[in-house]
Amino acid sequence: MQCPHCLEHFTSRDAARCVGEEKDGYWWVNSNHCANSDCGRLIVQFLHSRCVGSSSRPHDRMVDTRFPVDIDVVTVIYPKTTGRPPVPAEVPNEYSEDYKEACLVLADSPKASAALSRRCLQHILREEAGATARDLNVQIDFVLESGSLPSGVTSSLHALREIGNLAAHPTKYTVTGEIVPIEPGEAEWCLDVIEVLFHHYFVEPADLDKRKNALNEKLVAAGRKPLTS
Ligand SMILES: [Zn+2]
Repeated sequence: MQCPHCLEHFTSRDAARCVGEEKDGYWWVNSNHCANSDCGRLIVQFLHSRCVGSSSRPHDRMVDTRFPVDIDVVTVIYPKTTGRPPVPAEVPNEYSEDYKEACLVLADSPKASAALSRRCLQHILREEAGATARDLNVQIDFVLESGSLPSGVTSSLHALREIGNLAAHPTKYTVTGEIVPIEPGEAEWCLDVIEVLFHHYFVEPADLDKRKNALNEKLVAAGRKPLTS
């Protein structure tokens, strides 16, 4: 399994405890400590299985001689997780806050997640790309027509409009924060597009700065002039 704290993969040592039965299956609480020695944090899952197995001997760390078979639901209840990579440290809080919340509510309410994502997208395009229109659709037009974005970013924005089926819902992107019907996969794609924008506007420039500073240190050490731009 992947540790939601440190994102390392490790082999889990299951210790599921059955907490209830219904006619269609069994509910379990399963806990693990991350095997990464630098992490070691606790992970607690809520599981549903269609069947139950049992052993005369306690299994693994043992709390129950029964174990879940044919698991069809796995929910991580601790830590509260987004299931997505962490926000890069270079991203300012004013953007990462809406993005994180959009990630957290995705599983329970894709519509709410998409509304938060649209607000985040509007905020980024307004402040970082100078697209000041109130309508996200017009903002996207503005940045696409500016020709200033690399192809990976423009194709992501194009795809967002395609997936959002804006031809059928022309007002979807005009009212910030409004809860509106969404297409399958649209909420996830909104988050993917924000990640692409985070990378373009914050991660890449910071990375370039780091490389430039490292190069300048070498140039100065060699008695040469540092780069100025
Ligand atoms: Zn971990």
